[in-house]
Amino acid sequence: MKIGVIGGGAAGFFAAIHASATDREVTIFEKSPKLLSKVKVSGGGRCNVTHKPMEISKLVKNYPRGEKFLKCVFTKFKSEDTIRWFETRGVELKVEADGRMFPVSDSSQSIIDVLLKEARKLKVTIKKSCGVKTIIPDPNGFKLDTDEGIFLVNKLIVATGGHPKSDSYSFLKNLNHSILDPIPSLFTFNTPKESLRELMGLSVTDGLVKIEGTKLTYRGPVLVTHWGVSGPAVLKLSAFGAQWLRDRNYVATALINWNGAFGEEEYSIHIRNYILAHPHRKVMGNSLFDIPSRLWEHFCIRSEIAVGQLFCTLSKKQINKLVQNLFCYILKVEGKTTFKEEFVTAGGISLNEVNPETLESKFHPNLYFAGEVLNIDGITGGFNFQAAWSTGFLAGIASSN
Ligand SMILES: Cc1cc2nc3c(=O)[nH]c(=O)nc-3n(C[C@H](O)[C@H](O)[C@H](O)COP(=O)(O)OP(=O)(O)OC[C@H]3O[C@@H](n4cnc5c(N)ncnc54)[C@H](O)[C@@H]3O)c2cc1C
Repeated sequence: MKIGVIGGGAAGFFAAIHASATDREVTIFEKSPKLLSKVKVSGGGRCNVTHKPMEISKLVKNYPRGEKFLKCVFTKFKSEDTIRWFETRGVELKVEADGRMFPVSDSSQSIIDVLLKEARKLKVTIKKSCGVKTIIPDPNGFKLDTDEGIFLVNKLIVATGGHPKSDSYSFLKNLNHSILDPIPSLFTFNTPKESLRELMGLSVTDGLVKIEGTKLTYRGPVLVTHWGVSGPAVLKLSAFGAQWLRDRNYVATALINWNGAFGEEEYSIHIRNYILAHPHRKVMGNSLFDIPSRLWEHFCIRSEIAVGQLFCTLSKKQINKLVQNLFCYILKVEGKTTFKEEFVTAGGISLNEVNPETLESKFHPNLYFAGEVLNIDGITGGFNFQAAWSTGFLAGIASSN
């Protein structure tokens, strides 16, 4: 039996490896001359392979699109299985403080090497520079019109990744699956008119970022960049708000609470108590709430607090302004910047048309999908590769039965 896998990325390799069995001829068709190219550059060249294990109900919350579908997928293959798979093949993984997992070597090449070695061992045929232009359903399976001519396969796994343009999905048109418009996810916010940008490089560890007019609020580190704001809280917001922001052409108002442990009232009480305890301390130079001193100074200037002014001389208006800056800093977002460490495409094959137990198409028997070609995307932290391994595993196993 011939099994074709379109796409030589993480999902395609994992699917091909798990589809391989005696009397199964597995072939990967990869349009570019390179294999696993995203794995290579991922995580800044270190490859954030997965995330520290957690309960499935928590794990799926890291996927703005695909949460329900993945609940089923992860019961069969989750982070623990990924860790075990790589470790039994000699690639040990380590956990970082924020839960991200990387190969101990800190090199994505370790991941590439083990996938190539395993595919070679299982005699997977790899056709590079062999893009699939059209898929033609056939009574015996699928005819693939490729750069090297026509190939007939009995079963087919599509693992072609995400594409920024709808046109790029045209090679799938004969399959009649619905394709949700691709939109970018995981990006940082541009704030070209904001003076905050002058403070680039500084960060807070526990910020709370909100998009005005939505219920979207995320907590985590916030980083000020040359273009605007970034960091996990912003990236999470960009992923969950991907469609909303796209519909508004990335023009929005972001509201930042610079220390998520404090509410408006608590900021105010804390400042008043501080005034009573230390009336003769200078406001500038005495940052409160774990705020970096340059940021605190910026808030003081915006609150019209003079250099050298003492806490005991703060007016009610100045205190209110300071609290406003701390609790609800208003930023005009005008555009986005790709987050170079990791970016993904939301959209792709509609999940309603795919069986989450097997990744098989509900329209065509023997047709499977895996990886980012599906309308699945995760936030930053190893969740996107985890979805690729899990869906690739299930599609591979199901296709070889
Ligand atoms: C810079 C960057 C860094 C990232 N870092 C991380 C990270 O550290 N951790 C994480 O979890 N996620 C990361 N991601 C996201 C992650 O890389 C993707 O979610 C993952 O690679 C998806 O795997 P895939 O196999 O579905 O698709 P891809 O890796 O995109 O592979 C699809 C393959 O299919 C091929 N293809 C497409 N169309 C055709 C065709 N018609 N015929 C033949 N071949 C075709 C493509 O050339 C490609 O090689 C990162 C993404 C980027 C861009």
